[in-house]
Amino acid sequence: MPITANDPNRKSWLEVPNDSDFPIQNIPFGVFLTKDDVITIGTRIGDSAIDLGALQQMNYFEGIELTDDMFMQDTLNDFISDGKKTWRLVRNRIAEIFDAENPLLRDNAKHREIVIFTLDEIEMQLPVLIGDYTDFYSSKEHATNVGKMFRDPENALLPNWLHIPVGYHGRSSSIVPSGIPVHRPMGQTLPNGETTPVFGPSRLIDFELETAFITTDANIMGENIPVHEAEDYIFGMVLLNDWSARDIQKWEYVPLGPFLAKNFASSISPWIVTLDALEPFRVKGPKQDPTPLPYLQQKGKHAFDIHLEVSIEPENGEETLVSKSNFKYMYWSMSQQLAHHTSNGCRVNSGDMMGSGTISGPTPDSFGSMLELTWGGKNPIQMKDGTERKFINDGDSVRIKGYCQNSDVRIGFGEVCSKLLPPFTRK
Ligand code: MN
Repeated sequence: MPITANDPNRKSWLEVPNDSDFPIQNIPFGVFLTKDDVITIGTRIGDSAIDLGALQQMNYFEGIELTDDMFMQDTLNDFISDGKKTWRLVRNRIAEIFDAENPLLRDNAKHREIVIFTLDEIEMQLPVLIGDYTDFYSSKEHATNVGKMFRDPENALLPNWLHIPVGYHGRSSSIVPSGIPVHRPMGQTLPNGETTPVFGPSRLIDFELETAFITTDANIMGENIPVHEAEDYIFGMVLLNDWSARDIQKWEYVPLGPFLAKNFASSISPWIVTLDALEPFRVKGPKQDPTPLPYLQQKGKHAFDIHLEVSIEPENGEETLVSKSNFKYMYWSMSQQLAHHTSNGCRVNSGDMMGSGTISGPTPDSFGSMLELTWGGKNPIQMKDGTERKFINDGDSVRIKGYCQNSDVRIGFGEVCSKLLPPFTRK
């Protein structure tokens, strides 16, 4: 089925500011609370939020097989579960409804009043009920940098890394949407030079620049998803800040990997940009040498050219850009990650989230964490307000932005931005 929603020549009757991440060719999906305290599934064009539940009630999706309350829910899980064909039909229909040439809703003031909100009239929620969260470790540059710092500079990559999309199971209970502040965690660490650990606030809070993909229910338990089919089960992507406590991580991660250093908070951007909308931005990924095992081999373009940037905004201070990276640097593709994840028969459900792993590029200004940018705190970053940072301070907001751009269109994610608060105090 053609993706008519991607037509670069289409214009909307809704106003779209120049350089908006959300032209009519994007049509992402999210969940929001309206000023009347109604929760609904929606989309966004320019700076207008669109209530898809209201559109459905007024029959704008006539002819598309949807359950009656499909968009009047507080998560996208059921819609995602309907599969790729339905996602395409709905995106194509939304593009038609908001096409500059289509008078149906454009000229119906009463309907427009019910369906369209300004951004300050709504509050974005988590778009899906995330059942399971897996985080990969798929940037070769990131894995090499961390290996150099924590292990052996000569053998920075562990022997399995070039053969397996390495990952671990995270914690979905601590995933929050952009705008929700995050507390500095308490934890157990081993101070430098000491032999006994201490318990207290983490001193080395870091961000991780990541993206994540949201899946549909893809298999039954025991069944694998072949790599060449995997993209059919990926609904879309969000930006992810995988908050990390480096001092807790360093002490706890041997032998079973990340635990409390990672599960205190993960922040995501609230609009899921569909894989369909990202189609024009496919590129070839890095050359994989050695050749992966057959179940991970794929031909063609399975990486996506997504510009990413991170900035830190101190409380009452000016924002400083600290990193510029790109999703296309990832060594393992999302389809390889999903094929590997299910290769043993592990079940994947609608609304599961898979993090890319920290996305570091080849140059020092493209590293995706403070750990790498400051090389373990050795080279502090100079901030515009005159202060410096080795890691993230209380009161700092970390902002990640992401967008794709070609000569025709810009498809963006908006941002994930959250503030670090001092440790939680029990009342
Ligand atoms: Mn991570």
